[in-house]
Parts: sequence; C-alpha cells; structure tokens
Amino acid sequence: MKFVDLGRQYEILQKDIQSRINAVLDHGRFIMGDEVMELEGVLAKFCDAKHCIAVSSGTDALQVALMALGVSHGDEVILPAFSFFATAEVVLLLGATPVFVDIDPVTYNMDMTQVEAKITDKTRAIIPVDLYGQSADYTALNDIASRHNIPVIGDSAQSYGATFDGKKVGSMATITATSFFPSKPLGCYGDGGACFTNDDELAEKMRQIRVHGQHNRYEHVRLGLNARFDTIQAAVLLSKMKVFPDEIKSRQKAAVYYDKILGDFIKVPSIDPRGKSVFAQYTVEVDNRDAVQEVMRAAGVPTAVHYPASLNKQPLFKDKSFYNEDYPMSDRAASRVMSLPMHPYLTHDDQDKVAAALKDAIS
Ligand SMILES: *Cc1c(COP(=O)(O)O)cnc(C)c1O
Repeated sequence: MKFVDLGRQYEILQKDIQSRINAVLDHGRFIMGDEVMELEGVLAKFCDAKHCIAVSSGTDALQVALMALGVSHGDEVILPAFSFFATAEVVLLLGATPVFVDIDPVTYNMDMTQVEAKITDKTRAIIPVDLYGQSADYTALNDIASRHNIPVIGDSAQSYGATFDGKKVGSMATITATSFFPSKPLGCYGDGGACFTNDDELAEKMRQIRVHGQHNRYEHVRLGLNARFDTIQAAVLLSKMKVFPDEIKSRQKAAVYYDKILGDFIKVPSIDPRGKSVFAQYTVEVDNRDAVQEVMRAAGVPTAVHYPASLNKQPLFKDKSFYNEDYPMSDRAASRVMSLPMHPYLTHDDQDKVAAALKDAIS
C-alpha cells in the first residue's frame, strides 16, 4: 500500500497527459507558454478568484505574496506555530520576524481568538495555514484583519478546492498561495504553485515579481525572483483539473469511511461544519507514536508525521527569542499526530487494512 498513490491517477489520465506534454514538446515554449495562461484562467475560475499567477512552487508563491505586499526588514508577520517550515521561512528570508500563534487543538488551524493580542504597529501581514486541507476560519480572521487594516495571505498549499462559509479557498484572503507539489491534492509532476487575488494592483505586482520585477522585457521596475512556471507542468495540471472535482469527492468519501471504521477507538479529524476539507492528509492522534508507526510499517501500512515539531522549535532558531516560547497545543499536536494513507483511489479494502493495523498497533 502507498501513502499517496499517483499511479492509479496516471493510468486514468495517461493518454491525455501524454498528448498535452507532446504538444508542448512540439511548440517548444517551455517556460510561461500558452498552457500556463490557460491554466491560470481555469484555476482562477475554479476558486472564484479574479487573478491567478502561476509560479515555481508553493514556497515561492508565499514569498511572491509577501514581496507584493512590501513585507521587509523590521516587519512582523503573524502565523501559526504548527505548519510546514516554509510558512516561517519566507518571512525570515525577507528579513521580517515571525510572530507565532498557537493552534486550535480541534482543527489544528491557527486559534483566531489569540490573533488580535499579537498585533502590533509592526504587523504587516497575517498568514493563516489551512492545515491538512481544512480551511482556516477566514470569517473570524478577516474581521480582525480588516479592523486593523492588515492583509491576509492564506497558506493554502494543502487546501486548494476546500471551502469555508460557502466561499472557496482562493477567494477569501488578500492573497492566497497554493502548491502543486506532486503529493498535494492538486499536484503536478515537479514543483509548482500559484497566487490568487481579487486585487488588480497586487496581481500586476506579483506578475512582475515572478519575472525579476520586469514590467516590459529588460525593464525592471522592482526586485523580483525567478519564479516562473513550466509549461509542461501547466499541461499536466490542465489534464488533472478534469478529474479534480471528482477526486475531491473521493477523498471526502474516503475520510467518511475512515471516520466510521476508526472513530470508536481513536481521535479522528474534526472538520468545522462551516467548511469542507479536501483532506490533503487524514491525520489522527496516538500515544507512543514511534512504536505505533513501527508496528504499522511492519504490517505494510505507511504513515507520516506532519509535523514533528512546532515551527519555533527548529534547531536553527536556538538563538532567537521565540525559540523558548511555548505553544502548548502546537507542541502537543507535534508529539501526537500521525497521518494515514490518503488519496482519491484508496479502496475500502486498503482502509480496512489500515484500520486493522492501527487497532493492533495501539493495543
Ligand atoms: C507544501 C507546503 C508548502 C510549500 O509548498 P512547496 O510547493 O513544496 O514549496 C508551504 N506550506 C505548507 C503548509 C505546505 O504544506
């Protein structure tokens, strides 16, 4: 059994993907070719955003977003203490300071009741993370952010396709950043990402930042990056978008089945009833995680940990003042969470095997 099985999806899409890739090989515009613009249109429409700017990775999408908002030295950016490293990394790369907020132990997303106390006159952005594919509470956060006139950047690397309060991820933040890393719910065959916004001026800035701050060719109006998107990856995603809505439904069905067969012996994910998760991960909590993972591995069931430490506790931060801060809910999650195999082509048979192995491992 695989943790994420991309092979089954490729079997279904093989002909279409190959002919689209061949078309790119024929026309030869390998970077920012026509398929990239076509994809941007499809992605923006799908999530009710006015603009989509496809970029080279989810990490670059976050950095492009921060740069477009002018975040730099001396600024503070608020983000949850529990996420993938990139969420904090991009803030530090720009010389700004991450200000951490603990998570809500039920959803694992940023605890919005703790955000306002962290806002100072240096706060230049807030980055909620939609962990495991579940949208953060943008309704609560946007209320706080708009009162303080602070832009929100959604780290939606795991949640493209999710909804909250009837709105789509991609339409709720000032800028939404997502990732097309192969194992994300919408993944390409390499690195990729995208920024979404409804703001024309920010969209223009992000398009410039993506290509070295260029306005016209060789006319640079700001500092930027090389964050362009590959045409072959756009071709792959155009094909995958055809099945993506069905794949989301399949992930949600797999989650419902896991809930049913695991719910009486383990803590299963809680999804806020106002939202719909795309289940980038299906994550449970266990005691003695190392031992549980070992027993499951021996039974042929792969598991993974997202993530084993709070963001502020990474070794490179040992001299930073925030290293010694405590985020009890984040620390607790980091020591207990374990993700189970999850993808749209998981069978009930596979899920029964996961459940049996898990039950055995925790008893
Ligand atoms: C995957 C991920 C990223 C980074 O995306 P890449 O495409 O790998 O650069 C950022 N934040 C979160 C929460 C992620 O899961």
